[in-house]
Amino acid sequence: MAIKRLDELAVAGKRVFCRVDFNVPLTDDGNVSDDTRISKVLPTIKRLRDAGARVICASHLGRPKGKVVEKLRMEPVGARLADLLGDGDVLVTDEPSGDGARQVIDRAREGDVVLLENLRFDARETENEDSFARELAALADIYLNDAFGTAHRAHASTVGMVQYVEQRGAGLLMFRELEMLGRLLSGAPKPFIAILGGAKVSDKLPVITNLLGKVDALIIGGAMANTFIAAQGGALGRSMVESDALDAARQVLARAQSKGVDLLLPVDAVVAPSLDAAGGETVPADAIPAEQMALDIGPQTLAAYRDRLSSAGAVFWNGPMGVFEKEPFAAGTMGIAEAVAASSAMSVVGGGDSVAAVVKSGTADKITHISTGGGASLEFMSGKTLPGVAALEV
Ligand code: ADP
Ligand code: MG
Repeated sequence: MAIKRLDELAVAGKRVFCRVDFNVPLTDDGNVSDDTRISKVLPTIKRLRDAGARVICASHLGRPKGKVVEKLRMEPVGARLADLLGDGDVLVTDEPSGDGARQVIDRAREGDVVLLENLRFDARETENEDSFARELAALADIYLNDAFGTAHRAHASTVGMVQYVEQRGAGLLMFRELEMLGRLLSGAPKPFIAILGGAKVSDKLPVITNLLGKVDALIIGGAMANTFIAAQGGALGRSMVESDALDAARQVLARAQSKGVDLLLPVDAVVAPSLDAAGGETVPADAIPAEQMALDIGPQTLAAYRDRLSSAGAVFWNGPMGVFEKEPFAAGTMGIAEAVAASSAMSVVGGGDSVAAVVKSGTADKITHISTGGGASLEFMSGKTLPGVAALEV
């Protein structure tokens, strides 16, 4: 991987454009409701300031679709960033590029932090238009990407502008993502076990296919498991089953067998007639009564999965084991989170809902790496080259 890390760049006195992921949730009255994403980038920003850089942070926020949307201005994000840095203002520009942005940056001194206005106020950002890439590049001397979560998109701020700056590299957060996910794909400690769940097999087929060549065992849960069980002739009642993915599921089963990968499917399930049921009952996973839906893995399945995980060398987890958002169907997912946290394996969790589940379980600090990229981590684990990563190579 020929990507420079922050410490290898000569940033003193330079204007460093830092592509960050400040796409944070906002409350109705426009405040930042969860600043996790801002906090995650603080080490990179602090390192740059300590090294004497003029830091220019840039992100998108929400989906303004190429127009100025007052509610999606970066102003509250800049205010929260300033709070978290705790020593002075963050200057927010009133446009993502152009004269307004340039004037603010020209006034910035070493150690100052500027935040550009929402990149997606300009339609040329997501279109990766060369004119916008050049305007952004003109604001900086060095390009740093610390936004792994948007690295799977080829936009002006993630790809287009990179060729027009004199130096490029990865921020601390981005570097750790590449290191951790990269190690899973080549050189994961054995046995390497992947846990895949969530809603759809079809969403995850590229990941499953790539991982089948790497893992020793594949543990399946969530609604995804229903499709595998249906593909083998099981009765699923009213459970979520992807009827157009049955063939794909059969192919995965056959490929796992030919590669000698153990593919573990649920043996029991927690079922209920509706998502709003106050509780469920446990039945065999391939004999779901006609009026019931499988909404979580059952206790026997959980015990078998825990047992298997206890001897893992590395674990990659994407996709909840059940409808963990509802208390009666959360036990499988919470139990797996505890098992992953308790194991001495190198553990990596990726995926928006999966990360939410781990946070909910209170075990996040015992996981080796929690990926900040939902879609990006899945594309990476599928073996794809992310355009925003490729652009950083020198
Ligand atoms: P991630 O965001 O981590 O990639 P997904 O989006 O693939 O995960 O899947 C998460 C969703 O899958 C959750 O909203 C969860 O409620 C749902 N889910 C999991 N198991 C089931 C099930 N048995 N039936 C219906 N939905 C399920
Ligand atoms: Mg999801």
